[in-house]
Amino acid sequence: MTATVAEAPGLPQLEQHLALIACGENTRSGKTRACDSCRARSQTLLRITSTGAADALAATICGTGDRRGKTCDPCKQKAVRMIRIYNGETE
Ligand SMILES: [Zn+2]
Ligand SMILES: [Zn+2]
Repeated sequence: MTATVAEAPGLPQLEQHLALIACGENTRSGKTRACDSCRARSQTLLRITSTGAADALAATICGTGDRRGKTCDPCKQKAVRMIRIYNGETE
């Protein structure tokens, strides 16, 4: 997979998708974009996702920073899902 690093206003689609999952997508309410704070973290999320480190990714999503503290289950599930999507697996 070729990840395009764009500095254009719009984030690359994959990055946006990962940010949306981290943010917590809600298709029922028609939410299709991550909030500003999650979008601001999208490059970090993408970078960690690319390493496949689900624990570190979950900690970032959960907001526990780089401490190896406990992350909640929803954030772990999001992390696993984001890595799957990054790897091009269907959900
Ligand atoms: Zn958010
Ligand atoms: Zn969490």
